[in-house]
Amino acid sequence: MTLSSILQEQSAALQEQLVSMRRELHRHPELSGEEHETTARIRTWLTESGIPLRELNLATGVLAEIKGSQPGPTILLRADIDALPVREETGLPFASQIPGRMHACGHDFHTASMIGAATLLQQQADTLHGNVRILFQPAEETASGAKTVIAAGALEGVTAVFGMHNKPELPVGTVGLKTGPLMASVDRFIIRIKGIGGHAGIPEATVDPVVVSSAIVSALQTLVSRNTSPHHAAVVSVCRLQVGSSWNVIPDSGEMEGTVRTFQREARANLPEQMRRVVENVAAGFGAEAELEWIDMLPAVNNDPAAIELAGQVARAQQLQVVEAVPTMGGEDFALYQEMVPGAFLWMGTGGTEQWHHPKFTLNEDALAISAALFAEIAVEALKAYGDR
Ligand SMILES: [Zn+2]
Ligand SMILES: [Zn+2]
Repeated sequence: MTLSSILQEQSAALQEQLVSMRRELHRHPELSGEEHETTARIRTWLTESGIPLRELNLATGVLAEIKGSQPGPTILLRADIDALPVREETGLPFASQIPGRMHACGHDFHTASMIGAATLLQQQADTLHGNVRILFQPAEETASGAKTVIAAGALEGVTAVFGMHNKPELPVGTVGLKTGPLMASVDRFIIRIKGIGGHAGIPEATVDPVVVSSAIVSALQTLVSRNTSPHHAAVVSVCRLQVGSSWNVIPDSGEMEGTVRTFQREARANLPEQMRRVVENVAAGFGAEAELEWIDMLPAVNNDPAAIELAGQVARAQQLQVVEAVPTMGGEDFALYQEMVPGAFLWMGTGGTEQWHHPKFTLNEDALAISAALFAEIAVEALKAYGDR
């Protein structure tokens, strides 16, 4: 059976089934690394559809594998499954039943639509040359899940990877595609300042970390404006600054923390040293000491041209509207898979009014079967394309 004939026959039934799964997930959101019930539900649904599971010994998360009848490459489709510590305010009849927890990033949509893709692929397994793995990844929001599943061996033998994020700004039936960087690298920094505390009225006997901290915050702004090429994009945000605890005592230390985002490897590689130089020397200028702790987190989501081309051809053949994806400085641990194999991460139009992580975040469920059919066909075409190489 071909995909288009399966779809013609089953489209309405599949859509109804995916809506019910998505709502079940939406009512029971679980935080990153705690997706135990979600994992159990996914396993049950896949097993009911006759889709084989590949055991990874993960605490949470699921890997399914559809084995084609003929040898060939292995293509990975990826969904994420975790929710957020957000109190839902949508008023939907299927709103979260767990106080302070919400699927506010739409990972319930990602999970249900990839189960749909798996179901469609399983029905044509006898025509496939190669295998399709479908990964339901835990802990995307904490940027730790991809690392865990890679360490567990989920990518062993994989030739290419495809994934998506729902996109409220794009209407249903629209797909956003872009070659190269789509989401930024994410790194974290902590700066510790050591001065000399004392009496607020006798500043000459102190080295004031309040003044040093504010000078460092100001100087950090020049990392983007003076150290990064105008052809590259970067963001340096100081998000926490703690110094002092009273009105008449100059404190002896301070601490700040923030994040750096870039699209280009070169910019990301240079920024830690540039930041260290600014931090240490600005502090020295005041007679203080400062140290930088840099924590590498995620590279940029970087789309492979051939994988994007393939996704675009499939989307157009399915009469979907293809638009140029607008990049975001948000991060995604899908980037770690793209460090290992070529892949494409795309925006799936879900036509909502609120942005990701908003307590009133909603999406249009009509995109569920559309997304399922798109990713099933992307996998079929990818088996052909990567098999020929
Ligand atoms: Zn999110
Ligand atoms: Zn998300």
